[in-house]
Amino acid sequence: MEHMIVETHEAEGLEVRENPESRMLGLWALRAFRKGETVFPFLAAEELDHPTRLTVQMGERRHISLLPEALQYTNHGCDPNVLFNMDEMRLEALREIVPGEELRYFYPATEWRMDEPFVCNCGAANCLGRIAGAWSQPASVMSKYKVSSYIAAKLKARDQEDNA
Ligand SMILES: [Zn+2]
Repeated sequence: MEHMIVETHEAEGLEVRENPESRMLGLWALRAFRKGETVFPFLAAEELDHPTRLTVQMGERRHISLLPEALQYTNHGCDPNVLFNMDEMRLEALREIVPGEELRYFYPATEWRMDEPFVCNCGAANCLGRIAGAWSQPASVMSKYKVSSYIAAKLKARDQEDNA
């Protein structure tokens, strides 16, 4: 199938493409990545005190826009293959990734309360439906995912409140 290629990072093994079914732009792997491997290191282009559709959360009132910008096209998936590792500032492969696979990350792994919640249609068997950030997911769901240290601390605080 013909893909609309928007931006290629061939040396890095990544490409921004339009998904022919959803018509949404996404980030695609051009090469294989091993579990734990750095898919791409990133930097903060800008830090904001509030979330936007394109930011990733670093901490309380700390939201960054990403450099390289191509990483902003990483779509959400309920069965993710990558994670924005905010402690190490790298996009990390959560499992084996094969060439031609779309890179997906679990937004609540970094986002506590999202600016623009949406109804997910990722097609995963475990699809959670409405995605609004970690705050709206029960601990039983969140415990299945690798999350940022900020989200882990927020979930722990929430559990302690619930049990108080
Ligand atoms: Zn989903």
